Amino acid sequence: MKKIFSFLAVVLAALMLTACGAKGQGDSGSKSGGSSKKAAALPSGTLQIKMLDVGQGDAILIRHGKKTILIDTSDIDEKDKLKKRLAEEKVSSFDAVILTHPHADHMGGIDYVLNNFPVAMVYDNGQTAKPKFYTNYLKLLKEKKIKSKTLTAGDVLDFGDGLRFVVFSPTKEMRKDGGMENGKINLNINSIEGRLEFGDFKMMFTGDGEKVTEDSILSRYSADALRSNILKSPHHGSKTSNSDAFLKAVKPEWAVISCGVNNDYHHPHPSVRTKYGKMKIDFYRTDINGNITITTTGKKDDGKLYKITAQKGKKNDQTAY
Ligand SMILES: [Zn+2]
Repeated sequence: MKKIFSFLAVVLAALMLTACGAKGQGDSGSKSGGSSKKAAALPSGTLQIKMLDVGQGDAILIRHGKKTILIDTSDIDEKDKLKKRLAEEKVSSFDAVILTHPHADHMGGIDYVLNNFPVAMVYDNGQTAKPKFYTNYLKLLKEKKIKSKTLTAGDVLDFGDGLRFVVFSPTKEMRKDGGMENGKINLNINSIEGRLEFGDFKMMFTGDGEKVTEDSILSRYSADALRSNILKSPHHGSKTSNSDAFLKAVKPEWAVISCGVNNDYHHPHPSVRTKYGKMKIDFYRTDINGNITITTTGKKDDGKLYKITAQKGKKNDQTAY
């Protein structure tokens, strides 16, 4: 009898150890590439990522538990759309606003956001710009005493409950260089690029990063560190980004493209749409599909890791403007 009890005790101890081990493992998604300083906590709750239909610009709303995060603030001429979308989403405050780079189609609505919502923290790429929307942004930060921080490759933003954002670009050196290309400054180059991680779910954010940005990231990180389920299509689906090597490393199942109806830049570029097709990357685009929503618990439910839905239209729409 005693033997049976001690056997049971050993089995019980082994079971407990296994359970603890599984819990302690956390997220090992970005172990290679040196991007993660510590493992994230296990995910809890549902994560929702919504690429808002704000015309030609970017605004991506991320919600998890009580946390609300915004990546970019739409175009300077599309503030009304941003205002409408945020009202529809019943947003009352932001825990973090991430500004990928100081171009008017990404930072254009920052004054609206800072003037109308409590914002706990603003992250930018540390690149300065001359336009009024930028100088006004600095003024508002000061006036309203809003905390801000410049993001650099290697930074990890821990939003709690297993949600974090791992920054791949820009590096300090890239920022010092200021995004020089053929003797001219290209502010897209130093866009903040990074991976949002939530359990087994990963999404790559790219701002308007260019091919040189992608090459730099590829030279510093392994494909494992970059691999993502979903890609925020770089630079509104431009052919100056979306390089073969970058797409191969990230290997997304879906790309989501933010672009305006009949935009002057003809985004998303036909060659990018063709490339996505060849690489079996499905896509939605805000000009055709409206808001694009992704939800996930960070683990597979009924065999699915995440759900992606669009307000209207079909996936992989090849309409060209
Ligand atoms: Zn842009």
